[in-house]
Amino acid sequence: MPWSSRRSSSRQTKHAAPAVISCLAVLFAFVLAVSGFADEKRLTVYSGATSYSLSVREKNGIDYVGLLEILQPLGAASARTDGRTWRLNYNGSDSEFTPGQTRARVQGQTFDLPAMFLMENGRGLVPASSLPSLLQRFLRVPINFHEASRRLFIGNAAIHFTAQVNKTNPPTLVMNFTSPVNPMIATEPGKLRMVFTREPLVPPGSQTLTFDSPAIPSATFQENNGAAEIAVSGPVPLFASFSNEGRTITITPAPQATAHVPAPAAQPAVPAPAGSPAPQVSPGAVTAAVASTAVQYFVVVDASHGGDERGAALSDQLAEKDVTLAFALRLRQQLQARGLTTLMLREGDTTMSLDQRANMTNAAQPAIYVCLHAASQGSGVRLYTALLPAGAEGRGPFLDWNTAQSGFHAASQTAETSVAAELGKRQIAVRSLLAPLRPLNNITTAAMAIEVAPPAGKLAELNSPTYQQLVAESVTAGIEAVRDQLGAKP
Ligand SMILES: [Zn+2]
Repeated sequence: MPWSSRRSSSRQTKHAAPAVISCLAVLFAFVLAVSGFADEKRLTVYSGATSYSLSVREKNGIDYVGLLEILQPLGAASARTDGRTWRLNYNGSDSEFTPGQTRARVQGQTFDLPAMFLMENGRGLVPASSLPSLLQRFLRVPINFHEASRRLFIGNAAIHFTAQVNKTNPPTLVMNFTSPVNPMIATEPGKLRMVFTREPLVPPGSQTLTFDSPAIPSATFQENNGAAEIAVSGPVPLFASFSNEGRTITITPAPQATAHVPAPAAQPAVPAPAGSPAPQVSPGAVTAAVASTAVQYFVVVDASHGGDERGAALSDQLAEKDVTLAFALRLRQQLQARGLTTLMLREGDTTMSLDQRANMTNAAQPAIYVCLHAASQGSGVRLYTALLPAGAEGRGPFLDWNTAQSGFHAASQTAETSVAAELGKRQIAVRSLLAPLRPLNNITTAAMAIEVAPPAGKLAELNSPTYQQLVAESVTAGIEAVRDQLGAKP
């Protein structure tokens, strides 16, 4: 499905609408899906193998959920309507429910629902409060339901955590989790919030944890709408960094502007925004997974996808996440060779959310952010800068997270034009496009996405060192040509 709108605003007319493209389209669809997520009432199911979230239907003041949708990820489940009866088959055994009635037959035995069974467009709905006893009949394992927050734990699914402040300078809050976690992170004044939607995170002994540290006095655990949240309070902005393959989160006060360590003289100095603090992004804003703040980077290179998230399947053997990493490594090598200090957001097969990528980039304050994608369709290179909603340039004390890029779009286009020219010089087909593409719109510096397709449509060459080298050289030369303009940040 084409995802770039063809609205006839003057900002878009200079670019042709892009053809259908692989994973970027998927990314965008995902963003849309998530943005509709927050308002809706959700129930999240955690089993050992998987976690998933369902929408909740409120009827007569009672929360209802689709029983088939709950069971399908857990076993072989199907349903059919047979006269007045809704028949659900789970792992070969039939259960019967009748709309408007509370009595049902579940796995051969009578079962009384706490409120009547409902049918809606062929979907069989049961009261959420019936789930612990009802699912126990189907699954024969203990079910633990946190009803107020609609979080349902099947069997032994649970992630525990510990939290402890180390009195180092600066102090650090170290949180250890029993399994890897990947929360969405946001900051607001006085608080760093981590929202866990997929993780069966269970409450600590006390909902409020207090630490003997003025910099990080406390943290609270909350559950709400199918998610868990840990909020860490602190009088100064806090940074989060991940280690131990996602099992450890370290939170530390952000270094104050005066504490900046100058970059070594041998490194190209990135003009620090003297006296002017970095733009504040709020709400849902600047946190970071950058452990070191002493080094100023000129470029942040982001190999898109990684870990659990494979990106597009370019061929049977070729996953996009591997191609983007190979490209990113070559690009870093080229950039560093020209004295452009480079931070790679991932150097291995790591799962990272788009928010994490944006947060790390904004905390590192580079002159430019470049993310890499790969595609099997088309040929040559497509360059993207953020398409921001009309009116995004509106000034205020805070930037909106979704339009954080707005003040930097001119710089992004300068870089894109320069990179396009260098690709052209090397006979690589190039198109420049605007896209409402995350995380570009969350980045508070010049930002572009580079999607590399094979030369002349020969898929195997996408992974050839020669081709990757040529593209990396072009991108490097393009960035180098405008380094002074990019260094002079607003
Ligand atoms: Zn991609």
